[in-house]
Amino acid sequence: MEFIDLATQQKRISDKIDSNIKAVLNHGKYIMGPEVKTLEEKLADYVGVKHAVSCASGTDALLMALMAYKVGQGDAVLTTPFTFIATAEVISLLGATPVFVDIDPDTYNIDPVKIKQTLRSLKNKSLAPKAIIAVDLFGLTADYDAIGLIAGENNLLVIEDAAQSFGAEYKGKKSCAFGNIACTSFFPAKPLGCYGDGGMCFTNDSQIETILKSIRVHGQGGDKYDNVRIGINGRIDTMQAAILTAKFDIFPEEVKLRQTVAKRYEKLLSKIPFLKTPQVPENYLSAWAQYSILAENEKQREMLLAALSKEKIPSAIYYPKPLHQQAAFSFLGYNKGDFPVSENVAQRIFSLPMHPYLKEEDQKKIAEVLQSAI
Ligand SMILES: *Cc1c(COP(=O)(O)O)cnc(C)c1O
Repeated sequence: MEFIDLATQQKRISDKIDSNIKAVLNHGKYIMGPEVKTLEEKLADYVGVKHAVSCASGTDALLMALMAYKVGQGDAVLTTPFTFIATAEVISLLGATPVFVDIDPDTYNIDPVKIKQTLRSLKNKSLAPKAIIAVDLFGLTADYDAIGLIAGENNLLVIEDAAQSFGAEYKGKKSCAFGNIACTSFFPAKPLGCYGDGGMCFTNDSQIETILKSIRVHGQGGDKYDNVRIGINGRIDTMQAAILTAKFDIFPEEVKLRQTVAKRYEKLLSKIPFLKTPQVPENYLSAWAQYSILAENEKQREMLLAALSKEKIPSAIYYPKPLHQQAAFSFLGYNKGDFPVSENVAQRIFSLPMHPYLKEEDQKKIAEVLQSAI
């Protein structure tokens, strides 16, 4: 049993992948070849935004987004401590300050009520709140109506970290269509993954699109050797764009298959005592990057993971340590107990195999192992 089964997916589309790769080898435009533009157009259309700017990774997408809006020294960027390090790392890289806000205990996403409280607490500080990075954790989008309202009242930018949620929906709109700018990742394990690193920014703002394209190539102006701002080498490889185009053909179907798998899990697992299955609020559609459940406590989680491992069922913990407890962020001065929901969830959460091709019999086995262990 695989945690994420990329081999089965590859078998379905191997002819198309082969011919797309061959086409790149034939034309030889390895950097910014025609496949890059094709991919950007396809994904912008799918998401329903005007502009898509591809880049080298999800991390670069976030970095370029913050650079495009000139986030830097003295700026506070509010985000969740219960996420992958990249979300907050890019804030610090630019000299701005991550300000953490605890999560909602049901969705594990940033809690809008606590955003308001945090903004009040920043009133007498020297930091100026500039942006909110909301993360769509495990494939479920954050509450963008509530976040947008607060951002509007406080003149803040909203950045959607959609690294895990490509394909998700919120109130009829696709993930990557929220906030001023959205950033996704094509890391192989994400819902739409390539065979290496890749990422993309989405925005309806044409001016920001122009700036992103400049930042992506060393802050270029009229041409490559005219540099008008500080940028990065943030391009996606043509080869990865060619692979993504092949994968995207079956992606909408895969999002549907993920719903089927998640529904089966819910039916099998929700009746097992102590376990808490994922809550998907009304009007949300998760992309199910991960299927993450809560054990009753840390000790029980340890016992359940051991039982799964004994039966050769893969599992993972996303995330064992919230960002405010990471050594890399010790300079921010947070303490244990500052974000009790994140800390509690980090001790109890674990993820089960999740991909579009997970078989019912495997899911039944997983449920049996968990049930008998409990
Ligand atoms: C994966 C991930 C990123 C970073 O994406 P990369 O492509 O690996 O750089 C950022 N934020 C979140 C929430 C992620 O899960």
